[in-house]
Amino acid sequence: MEGERTQPGWGPFGVFAVGRWRLWRLPDRFLVGYVLAVDLTALTGAAVAFHALPVPERDWRPFWILIACCVVYVEVSRSIERSRAEFLDGPHIDLNSVWMFAAALLLHPGLAAVVIAVSYAYRWLRVRHREVYRQTFSAAASIVAAYLANLVPFVPHELAIFVAALLYGLSNTALITFAVHRSRPGTRLRDALFSPPEYALEASTIALGVLLAWALVDWPPMLVLIMGVTLVLHRSTLVQQLREQADADGKTGLLNAVRWTEIATSELARGRRRGMPASVLMLDLDHFKVINDRHGHLVGDKVLLAVAAALRAEVRSADVLARFGGEEFVILLPGTNRFDAVTIAERIRHRVAALTIPVAGGEIGITISIGVAAQPRDGQTLEPLLLAADRALYVAKEAGRDRVRTMP
Ligand code: GH3
Ligand code: MG
Ligand code: MG
Repeated sequence: MEGERTQPGWGPFGVFAVGRWRLWRLPDRFLVGYVLAVDLTALTGAAVAFHALPVPERDWRPFWILIACCVVYVEVSRSIERSRAEFLDGPHIDLNSVWMFAAALLLHPGLAAVVIAVSYAYRWLRVRHREVYRQTFSAAASIVAAYLANLVPFVPHELAIFVAALLYGLSNTALITFAVHRSRPGTRLRDALFSPPEYALEASTIALGVLLAWALVDWPPMLVLIMGVTLVLHRSTLVQQLREQADADGKTGLLNAVRWTEIATSELARGRRRGMPASVLMLDLDHFKVINDRHGHLVGDKVLLAVAAALRAEVRSADVLARFGGEEFVILLPGTNRFDAVTIAERIRHRVAALTIPVAGGEIGITISIGVAAQPRDGQTLEPLLLAADRALYVAKEAGRDRVRTMP
């Protein structure tokens, strides 16, 4: 599992310029300490393990096979990873836990650490040059997770593999999530979490790791099948992520207008079949042009991001939120009548008005105007509802902005 996005690297030799390490540029001393502590734990753990535990003779064969697996897999999945690096960014789960968790289960902890380190180092060389401290931290987090999975001898044998899998998955996720959260001040922990499908993917990767560990001991030809399954899983994950990206607005990560219209149309049809009323909110930032003119477009974009985050936090999971264009947003509220929609709109309006956005020499605020339309009064299908919400928005603007209006 990896955190954060690709950055242009400095080439393999920049690594030795310790004073220029980007690690030191992290905004937060505590985070630097945390990253170094995880790295150090991984290193010390390996040193202690090699010192205190003899490497069993039987570990060498699976060790070399797993190293070979890591290298071969990076080579065969390179085109998939390249497309991902090119078209997608943001934290992502990769599928290398298959080899890494098998190593954690089967091998001497020191050897497992070496397999994990080789896997990350080889990917760094062959796929994409992420900042070195990030790649190192991801490796260290997996290594520490592998040590924790090794605590399993202390639980009853039948449960051992499940407990190991759980310990590995949870601790790896927790170590990464904490760093991602801490590196983005002002965001909530929830925003640093991966999505449920991503956790499911990580879980299936670990499950494949269990099968692989078994195959390495009992039936090595199975390895080829596992590699094939992993590749297919990898490719379909990429396709799914590209599809999600195509539905999103590039600036805010909310849905885009096209996808929102599709979803809203089908949600309204579903609501009509069930006799549930729905409402539509149309939202527009007030005097946004003034902010752009006074503070520049970059600050304008920051405001858009802050508002998008506030809206996301304020709506329920069933609500459908999108950036409709420019500084306009829309929200479909399924199962919500006009009265409740106005209450929700007021809540949103207050939340946006309470936002403060840091700018050079202080901070600025923003207000939002909201038009509300509801079934059945303003129409049954999307088109009349949008039209009514847009008119109500116009009324709110005319009435002085920073207010919520419906059509009389
Ligand atoms: P009103 O209260 O009447 O809505 O005033 P306004 O200034 O918000 O309205 P207007 O529609 O005249 O201006 C919208 C501005 O939004 C103009 C445009 O430059 C700006 N804008 C649109 N999209 C973006 C964007 O993605 N980033 C930034 N920074 N500005 C944007
Ligand atoms: Mg506006
Ligand atoms: Mg506008």
